[in-house]
Amino acid sequence: MTGKPHLIGSEIYRTSSYGHRHPLAIPRVSAALDLIRAMGWLDERQYLDSPRATPEQLARFHDREYIAAVLQAEADQHVPAERRERYNIGRNGNPVFPEIFSRPATACGGTLKAIELLREGGIVYSPAGGTHHGRPGRASGFCYFNDPVLGILALLDQGLTRIYYVDVDAHHGDGVQDAFACDDRVFTLSIHEDGRWPYSGAIGDRAGGSALNLPVSAGFNDSEMAFLFDEVVLPKAARLRPEAILLQCGADGLADDPMSGLDLSNRALWRVVKGLVDQAPRLLVLGGGGYNPWSVARCWAGVWAVLNGIDSATAPTPEATAVLRGLWWSRNRGRELPEHWFTTIADAARDSMVRDDVRALAAAAMCM
Ligand SMILES: [Zn+2]
Repeated sequence: MTGKPHLIGSEIYRTSSYGHRHPLAIPRVSAALDLIRAMGWLDERQYLDSPRATPEQLARFHDREYIAAVLQAEADQHVPAERRERYNIGRNGNPVFPEIFSRPATACGGTLKAIELLREGGIVYSPAGGTHHGRPGRASGFCYFNDPVLGILALLDQGLTRIYYVDVDAHHGDGVQDAFACDDRVFTLSIHEDGRWPYSGAIGDRAGGSALNLPVSAGFNDSEMAFLFDEVVLPKAARLRPEAILLQCGADGLADDPMSGLDLSNRALWRVVKGLVDQAPRLLVLGGGGYNPWSVARCWAGVWAVLNGIDSATAPTPEATAVLRGLWWSRNRGRELPEHWFTTIADAARDSMVRDDVRALAAAAMCM
């Protein structure tokens, strides 16, 4: 693929829900896509509707019994206790819901489609992807299947041998790291909040030399992200000379997000996206976490603008403002919402001092 970037989405993310109490029971992908269109940032020829991955495709990474159990859960809308335990579905934030198979399988189908499109090079964005916690035989952290792993496996199947996975979600990209531990064809780098679930991803956690982890402390700001990017992420790219980069661009490290203590603006994530664009002939940008509908929609819409060389820090159009005013969030009941969630796309930059612990992390990482 050459030419303009492609955007992959699906209406399934608008019409399905994890259940009204779940943190993911908010518009995310649908809101980002609506905002992109309302900003006039999408040439419809760039858009592709996501196919759904088949059980056979999922079996490239996932256990067949587990895939069958998720399919059965979708059919029955119920999981027997023994399976709940074994597969971690119907509990621990991985609820049984009407599209428990179809929705995550669609995210995987989108990522696999992206890899096909990238065969000859280019840029693809699939904000529904990034389910980085999924395990071969069990759900984990709201992730039933692991689309980044399936995408990387598809790249390896194409014969690629230098793949760089960068994960800026607030949570450690444990499922992807562990899937490629000791595999020298895949290097995974994760920047995440220290001491937060799943509690893995310490600086010394190297997965046999194929991973690098940068656990950052609460309050992590834009200047610190830029510092780690310039001092670690880019030099690693220069050393690896990757044939493909996958970026998991979870939006839960943003200051407006309720699920982490990180203090980033969306500009910090856009800088990462922009910085990776010319580091490999193939770039796949995925979504990930993100639990405030306004911060997710604005961040992920802006990612698409950046990929297309459009200035994302422009004022929203009247149509875009209408999209933002139309979003809902159960957590906002009785609370005054900040006006900038409706009237801007770009957050104010959250630049501050680069703290010593962040400098020490970079120094340690580059010695490894
Ligand atoms: Zn996360």
